[in-house]
Amino acid sequence: MPTELRVLDDGAWVSVDNERRVPTSDIWRFAATDFCGCATAFVLLEAFTRVSVTGREVSVDGVGRCVDCGEKRTFSGLGVGRVLDGSFRPYPPDAVRARSEPSV
Ligand SMILES: [Zn+2]
Repeated sequence: MPTELRVLDDGAWVSVDNERRVPTSDIWRFAATDFCGCATAFVLLEAFTRVSVTGREVSVDGVGRCVDCGEKRTFSGLGVGRVLDGSFRPYPPDAVRARSEPSV
């Protein structure tokens, strides 16, 4: 069964199979991404613009803001979870996931 992915509520949520699963209110750690001047950027997601799936990984494009320095940028390709056995398993936002980090 295909997994249905959508951006809902003006970019506030990523919906997986008609359930709101990934909110913009979380802070994600970007350690390998040159998001701002901070060594590790802690990025509050402000809006999602696109959700897609590559292989098993679900990734999003959107806009975020570094909570330490205030830099606001768009990003693409942030991995937010995986589809395993037909169900969505979200990643913890504060984990170090260098291979799932976005580009800016
Ligand atoms: Zn910063």
